Amino acid sequence: MKTNLLFLLMILLYSSMTFAQSPKELAAMWEKEHISRLFPSDVRHKDLLVYLEELRKLGLKVEEVGRSNAERSIFQVEFGRGPLKIFMWSQMHGDEPTATSALIDMLAYFQKNRQTDWVKKIEETMTIRAVPMLNPDGAEAYQRRNLQGIDINRDAVDLRTPEARLLKKLRDDWSPAIGFNLHNQQALTTVGMTPKQAAISLLVVFGDEAKTLNEGQARNQRIAAAMAEALQQLIPGHIGRYDDEWTPTAFGDNFSAWGTPVILVETGALHGRDEMYLVKLNFVAFVTAIQSIVTGSERSQNPAAYISLPSNGSGGLVNYVFRRANIINNGEVTVGDIGVVAARRRASFTVSAKISSVGTLNAITGLDEYDASGFYLYQRFGKTKPGELGEFYFYKLDRTVDWKSTDLAYKFPPDAIFSAGRFIKGAGLVPKK
Ligand SMILES: [Zn+2]
Repeated sequence: MKTNLLFLLMILLYSSMTFAQSPKELAAMWEKEHISRLFPSDVRHKDLLVYLEELRKLGLKVEEVGRSNAERSIFQVEFGRGPLKIFMWSQMHGDEPTATSALIDMLAYFQKNRQTDWVKKIEETMTIRAVPMLNPDGAEAYQRRNLQGIDINRDAVDLRTPEARLLKKLRDDWSPAIGFNLHNQQALTTVGMTPKQAAISLLVVFGDEAKTLNEGQARNQRIAAAMAEALQQLIPGHIGRYDDEWTPTAFGDNFSAWGTPVILVETGALHGRDEMYLVKLNFVAFVTAIQSIVTGSERSQNPAAYISLPSNGSGGLVNYVFRRANIINNGEVTVGDIGVVAARRRASFTVSAKISSVGTLNAITGLDEYDASGFYLYQRFGKTKPGELGEFYFYKLDRTVDWKSTDLAYKFPPDAIFSAGRFIKGAGLVPKK
């Protein structure tokens, strides 16, 4: 009896050692072996083809399963031969690219490490099918919608788009047990009312408006809790819960209704970290989810780590705040704060920054905040009001400037210039808070 117990303990210890990598170990694995090289926002369809060719060379099954309106090929990659069916798709919104690279990296990692016990176990337990970049036309134009101008994620019922028809067909033909719907959310999304960016938000998607918690969703809550716990170790406090309003025409909701309960993963941003860091977080989250299923640890997982996640918040965070600036408007000076937000863009594109708010902005936090009290702030184009470009000249208060003069910057060279989201002159002069 005693020997049996000891044996059992050893088995348990062995399996936990062999099959459950810590979030930090997973992050290190990604760093060592990831094959995605470009920032996800710079990945075009042609770049995806290069990645997929690498997966093919590694021996993965890569299959063209459909075409977009512009005849761009849409692919499904398969890993594993186990009975449990896992379906993951990314970038149905063209300007939401992070998970596409993460899927590529995850599949490459699994394939390259098939000889390790834990990956072998994944291979034998489940079959993973992944569709990276469902909306290649949208990805090419870096826009949410497809070439018809239709939001594919509002087309689950009408099926007016080839991409939506394909997605539905892939589900209906295969009836996966779990779906992962992979998106990006606004970079300025916060965790609840805190000023912390929601780098990742999760949602276990219900299959009906009444939010009935069936077995599949209860399981997904436990899986999402495992994902949240893992992420909290890497980015404490930066994980949110996505809004769970029932959307009758969306794919996540309908997948869940059709019998494939969905976990939605929304990647945001994290100040000071680049897009590759977000790919790494995705990799850790996906592999953690898969491991929790394969090892069976999800069965004893407390769902609280998911359920207690604060809901996503918005409106309290901007990219830049210039505090107590002496703002020049029509030659008059008013003292106030200016909030500036940067638009979503490809990594290789110039930032377009716009004024979001002007006044006493006590309820607004900037990812970067500057004390502009020692400066005149002159708006280069138009007026200093919301909607205008955040392009500013800064002059020290002891300067005498004729604000009405044409060719201002030539006649009165500014001490600092803020343009396209950064100081292009006089960096460091306006003190950072
Ligand atoms: Zn989306």
